[in-house]
Amino acid sequence: MQTVATEAVTCPHCGDEASVSLPSEETELKVRHSVAAFGEHTTVTCSEGHTYWVYFC
Ligand SMILES: [Zn+2]
Repeated sequence: MQTVATEAVTCPHCGDEASVSLPSEETELKVRHSVAAFGEHTTVTCSEGHTYWVYFC
């Protein structure tokens, strides 16, 4: 996947910030605690070891 931008996301568990690569500049992100069966997404692991899902809308 070619990436054109990055955006900061916040861990829902501890508030730690991470950056996520976006597939397009118009993409909006939604952070979720658990996986859903639809949509393009990526997983993020924060510095505390929490894993969460970021969906592209
Ligand atoms: Zn965390």
